Amino acid sequence: MNVYDSARMADVLAPLGYAEAAAADGADMVIVNTCHIREHAAEKVFSELGRLRLLKQAKAERGGHLIIAVAGCVAQAEGEEILARAPFVDIVLGPQTYHRLPEMVAKASRAGGHVLDTDFPAEPKFDHLPAPTAQGPSTFLSVQEGCDKFCTFCVVPYTRGAEYSRPAAAILDEARGLAAGGVREITLLGQNVNGYHGDGPDGGAWGLGRLVRALADVPGIERIRYTTSHPRDLDDELVAAHGEVAKLMPFLHLPVQSGSDRILAVMNRQHTAEHYRRLVERLRTARADLALSSDFIVGFPGETDADFEATLRLIRDIGFAQAYSFKYSPRPGTPAAAMAEQVPEALKEERLAAIHELIGAQAKAFNGGCVGRRFDVLLDRPGRHAGQLLGRSPYMQSVYASLPETMLNTVQRLRVVEAHANSLAAVLDTDMGETDIGERACA
Ligand code: SAH
Ligand code: SF4
Repeated sequence: MNVYDSARMADVLAPLGYAEAAAADGADMVIVNTCHIREHAAEKVFSELGRLRLLKQAKAERGGHLIIAVAGCVAQAEGEEILARAPFVDIVLGPQTYHRLPEMVAKASRAGGHVLDTDFPAEPKFDHLPAPTAQGPSTFLSVQEGCDKFCTFCVVPYTRGAEYSRPAAAILDEARGLAAGGVREITLLGQNVNGYHGDGPDGGAWGLGRLVRALADVPGIERIRYTTSHPRDLDDELVAAHGEVAKLMPFLHLPVQSGSDRILAVMNRQHTAEHYRRLVERLRTARADLALSSDFIVGFPGETDADFEATLRLIRDIGFAQAYSFKYSPRPGTPAAAMAEQVPEALKEERLAAIHELIGAQAKAFNGGCVGRRFDVLLDRPGRHAGQLLGRSPYMQSVYASLPETMLNTVQRLRVVEAHANSLAAVLDTDMGETDIGERACA
């Protein structure tokens, strides 16, 4: 989401004459786009600002002026504190106001002093943003923002605000424009993306399944993904879309956080581990080659050995192609931060190591199982070595192969010949038969 927001901030600033600089050194403005999801992310902001202060001083000594802006969720949550601790910051803006950046920049350069804008404006920012320009064959498209779920560990409902779904017609227009600019793969974005319920062009409310079907009909769009989804909101229509829309990639990031019903309840996730297991079963019935990824939090307040065991059991039962796991990080103002029974750091570390080991083994088995398979790969970058191109498999793995540069930005059928820790090596598949994909996932 921050990558997407940064790109949109660049779009908004382009008419003012700003273009992306290769490095902060020498730039006229630096925007630090921040994340508040875990403590570590927020801490990094202040150390980054310390470095920028030196750049600003050096530039001032040469008679220049460096504008420093802090954007994103740390700015939203701690705007006043940022200005107090780092008074050399010119602009602080939240994730819902960056369409107003041009005014803020004008104000900051004209009057000096600080500009702080962390409103949740009534008018959605999307109505004021210029149409995004295609940057390569794969791009994000934001369809939904904010969250009303209030999981007890999470700051998102406070920093990103209430759930909002963009009208389907605006999304489809944007997708057509992106496709015309060369985009082949679209990743639909939202904090709770499958909670999408936008106004449809037909006057009714559209869910994500309906939107995915409509996007699959946009000429030029060959692949569709969405992230991040919540197990509670994955409705029948979306499950069916996984089975019926070939362009919807067979890889789903579906965070579950814990395998213990007791912890899931205290987290306010509003579903059980059994619900998740059944949901995965239904998805795999709809699309046999579906592979899954997930998020896990270890050391949530009150998590016992038995609770953690239940999480490991769930991971073993489901089998993930990859997953992210995090130590629980108390976030100011969230209910879980105030809970008794905070888990000691050493135990969190121990559980994190155990979960990493299990997930790492599953990911390795998954990648290994891909050797010999044939995939359609979107080749979106030059490879590390001359004569190589790099792309993404349907399962989001990095795939590289020796291929002519003319194949850059196209989808090609490749056969995987070798699996490494973080990538797959492949060769062009000359047999133009059906892909193997369709029968089963890799593991
Ligand atoms: N909307 C998504 C998750 C968005 S946040 C969902 O409902 O699943 C991305 C991930 O960050 C979460 O899935 C969670 O695993 C992690 N996360 C969020 N808050 C956290 C916290 N306080 N401590 C540790 N991890 C956290
Ligand atoms: Fe945070 Fe996701 Fe829960 Fe919303 S659903 S509160 S974004 S973890």
